[in-house]
Amino acid sequence: MIRAVLYLFIAIILITFLRSVIGLIAKAFGGLMAEESQSAAAGGGSKGEGSTPAGELKRDPVCGTYVPESTSVKQLVGGRVVHFCSEECRSKYQSG
Ligand SMILES: [Zn+2]
Repeated sequence: MIRAVLYLFIAIILITFLRSVIGLIAKAFGGLMAEESQSAAAGGGSKGEGSTPAGELKRDPVCGTYVPESTSVKQLVGGRVVHFCSEECRSKYQSG
């Protein structure tokens, strides 16, 4: 009788241990994924003056990438602002 209780006790400990290990692994993977998406979303982050919402996506005409207005490289072309993902794309646009 006491043995049965002991086995039950060990089984419960094992299950809780396994669950915590699985939880930790899941957390580690989830944390990594969250970190990646956060670092991708981060950068800039400075709020605009309020005229245009920060983070509005503008298309880079050179490579076709959509870049947030707050972090884009801007260039006035023919009276309108063109947004680029990088200085490299801006110089490409100007030369080509
Ligand atoms: Zn680009």
